[in-house]
Amino acid sequence: MIEFLLEETCVGCDICADICPQDVFDTQASGPPVIARQEDCHSCRQCNLHCPVSAIHVSLLREPTPDLDRDAIVASGRISAYAEWLGWRKGKAPPGDKAHSLRLRELRGERAPDPGDRVRRQLYEVRDSNYL
Ligand code: SF4
Ligand code: SF4
Repeated sequence: MIEFLLEETCVGCDICADICPQDVFDTQASGPPVIARQEDCHSCRQCNLHCPVSAIHVSLLREPTPDLDRDAIVASGRISAYAEWLGWRKGKAPPGDKAHSLRLRELRGERAPDPGDRVRRQLYEVRDSNYL
């Protein structure tokens, strides 16, 4: 579920509103879109991936995370971590990620990455409700 949109970072491009398949956002004449239908989000992360300034945080949980530490998430860089992990850079599509479903399973704790994959191992081991 989408957790928050950083109004202070958003540049008002409305890409998230255009790309969201669930019509979660309402656009405004000026300023950032509003998360108007949070409960309709199905965590596809398209808004997170395409946002040019990494202003949207999405978790894979179906319900809003209680006591979400927004400042800690921003400070840790987790908002852009998923896009970087998949090989996206500033709204560019990845060159061809065939392991998307495997990585989602790793994020959910359903499957551990290969022991030799140090970076994905680290990400897997630090996962918590905020990271998800
Ligand atoms: S994660 Fe997907 S469904 Fe949810 S707000 Fe973003 S684009 Fe819409
Ligand atoms: S895609 Fe990012 S910068 Fe553009 S309107 Fe949405 S939150 Fe703001």
